[in-house]
Amino acid sequence: MLFLSNTVLKCTLETIEKMKTHYKSQLQDKVPQGGLFVAKLPSCTITAYKSGKVLFQGNSAGSEAAKWGSSVTSTKTTTSKKPVAKNSGLPANIRTLSMVGSDEVGTGDYFGPMTVVAAYVSNDKFELLKELGVKDSKDLNDKQICEIAESIIHVIPYSLLILHNEKYNELQAKGMTQGKMKALLHNQAIGHVLKKIAPSTPDGILIDQFAVPDVYFRHLSGQKEIIKDKVYFSTKAEGVHLSVAAASIIARYAFVKEFDKLSEKCGLELKKGASAQVDVVAAKLIKKQGIGALRTYTKLHFANTGKAKKIAGI
Ligand code: MG
Repeated sequence: MLFLSNTVLKCTLETIEKMKTHYKSQLQDKVPQGGLFVAKLPSCTITAYKSGKVLFQGNSAGSEAAKWGSSVTSTKTTTSKKPVAKNSGLPANIRTLSMVGSDEVGTGDYFGPMTVVAAYVSNDKFELLKELGVKDSKDLNDKQICEIAESIIHVIPYSLLILHNEKYNELQAKGMTQGKMKALLHNQAIGHVLKKIAPSTPDGILIDQFAVPDVYFRHLSGQKEIIKDKVYFSTKAEGVHLSVAAASIIARYAFVKEFDKLSEKCGLELKKGASAQVDVVAAKLIKKQGIGALRTYTKLHFANTGKAKKIAGI
């Protein structure tokens, strides 16, 4: 039987306070974002999060967690067990494999960067990630996504790349398509993760499909390192493998954080997406900081630029 060295409890803040007192001689100075405390025991590390989740990792995780009652969250498997479609080109058993998944966020947003994440999820982490709430990010709001991301970034290897708009606009002005930017970033993020987990290798790599494979690899031609061994593509890949769901959650989390920083920097509440409301905010930004500010905050080639200029009367 597979020995699970990770256990997650869902606790009240009162219980977490009790734990903190109980482990006070083993508390660590460094606490992750969203965390309340970290305690290091000889054979178990305990991390408590503001969300009420407490993660026990290590050989004595199960027995240590058991001291805190019967509140162990049940590990019901909710991911679809059905095999993937025969004509998908994916391994039939992909849901059981240890995979690197990659996804991107921010490509359709006028404000804010593009974020790309590749994450490695080995099959012994499936239960843990489900307990930490990983699922298709389309079913989660930004607050939930941030909570989940803050716990999973400590338990899986990943690479996050952020393409800020100054650079995006520079590349775009030189004629690079968004598709090519995505391909370059996915390939790079995947490469980083493969290096992080070496000498282990994943059973495969699954990219949330934004271009057909031929086009993806054409974008990469001329690159020093092109990862193509066991690379698979699928649309809606978050629903196919947890590695893509996790990558998507971390990418969204990074996007939201960067977005909030930008709002703070310009003193305006920026809007996500590319709607008419976005045009109005962009017009305010033009009036406040001049047209040049768009280069930093926006994807200039979007139609929003022209509409915002019109609203701003320039
Ligand atoms: Mg995607």
